[in-house]
Amino acid sequence: MGVVARAGCGAWCPSFGGRCYACRGLISDSNNKAAKDILDEFGLTLEQIMTEFRLFNGVYDVAKE
Ligand code: SF4
Repeated sequence: MGVVARAGCGAWCPSFGGRCYACRGLISDSNNKAAKDILDEFGLTLEQIMTEFRLFNGVYDVAKE
């Protein structure tokens, strides 16, 4: 989720082999389609992609689509 996540954490999770879940929120002008395309390239289903968006950011419209 790094491409749509609010910066400032120093990419803590990827630095230790984890994934970014955008726990700091989404940037205001995020390219959500690009993020979804990247997740799709890794073989996630649409529901799995939306779960990634909803985990910490369910209040955003993009997570409700
Ligand atoms: S999940 Fe949160 S702490 Fe981890 S890399 Fe993403 S924004 Fe940073």
